[in-house]
Amino acid sequence: MRPDELPARLAQIEAQGLYRRRLVLEKRLGPEFECEGRRLLNFCSNDYLGLSDHREVIKAMQTAAEAYGVGSGASHLVSGHGPAHQALEEALAEFTGRERALLFSTGYMANLGVITALAERGDWVFEDRLNHASLLDGARLSGARLKRYAHGDMDRLCADLAQCPARGRLLVTDGVFSMDGDLAPLPELAALAREANAWLMVDDAHGLGVIGPSGRGVVEHHGLGPEDVPVLMGTLGKAFGTFGAFVAGSHDLIEYLIQRARPYIYTTALPAAVAEATRVSLALAREESWRRDRLAALIGRFRSRALQSGLPLMESNTPIQPILIGDNEAALGASRALLEAGFLVVAIRPPAVPVGGARLRVTLSTVHEESQVDRLLEALARIIPAAP
Ligand SMILES: *Cc1c(COP(=O)(O)O)cnc(C)c1O
Repeated sequence: MRPDELPARLAQIEAQGLYRRRLVLEKRLGPEFECEGRRLLNFCSNDYLGLSDHREVIKAMQTAAEAYGVGSGASHLVSGHGPAHQALEEALAEFTGRERALLFSTGYMANLGVITALAERGDWVFEDRLNHASLLDGARLSGARLKRYAHGDMDRLCADLAQCPARGRLLVTDGVFSMDGDLAPLPELAALAREANAWLMVDDAHGLGVIGPSGRGVVEHHGLGPEDVPVLMGTLGKAFGTFGAFVAGSHDLIEYLIQRARPYIYTTALPAAVAEATRVSLALAREESWRRDRLAALIGRFRSRALQSGLPLMESNTPIQPILIGDNEAALGASRALLEAGFLVVAIRPPAVPVGGARLRVTLSTVHEESQVDRLLEALARIIPAAP
């Protein structure tokens, strides 16, 4: 692109109904926001367990900032790695039942780091078409060949694996698909990976803390273990309510990532205060299973009532409850009408979802009241035309 093409490019994005605008939201406690003088109820946050503004989590961050300062001052391999990071890595390894865990500054970087470390030129990476953008970007950056299979299509993957023999093969999937809310077929993926002597990496950004009896995510949900899913990635900015990410696996995997994962090596370490806050939120997520129970009850309530009103829900039993609209402008219009009614629900459009798959992405949280969910349902029934 030449510099003088910029205005035309922007106009083109606008004309396609793909222009993105940010709202300036003033957070209040719980699911409420204030925006331009109006109260809004947030139904698009990933703070599924309501831990982002928990008193004890906030206090841990304040105390740690007093003790360690705000910035970590350097990367983990220079002088940014302290006892707070060490303790959180140990807690995450224990939580996920793995030998080791490694902190990354964001989930995006963790995914780039793992995939570029494990796959190289001459290798193949196999990914579900609906995987998170960071997983696809990681494969592109790695120099390996990328093969994408239709969403959940294990026959296709099996055929692709047979057709693409390579020295190294890496199977990569979201645990919970972030724009659809459904789960990856992990037992099948684990079996295929084992047969092909391939790596299996699961990004459980939306499963950890939420799915499974003790919140250990999709791996626990399916009764699998580290031998089935040797590379597990999780984020800290969603159910755990803080910021950052981690990869959990064997001792050797983590040591190799420390040597080779460039987005780990060449970036400033997560602030120690964030690590300390996360240790507290991780403990709350583990111990307070009522948060998961309550969330499950809200999901059930939302789904049964939405289906009664004929809303086009997707097949999801997770807090991610998309409402399929199709057309970009129609999805935007519905989101705007909801905003007018006091509800924040973003319209998700391509390229985050396939063309023609624009949708409202409703997410539920433990901190929503039943009455708030009911009010959202009333507004949705009014705004979304009933499916034929
Ligand atoms: C949010 C998300 C990420 C990115 O994590 P950040 O910490 O926000 O960078 C990666 N993968 C999936 C599936 C996600 O939903």
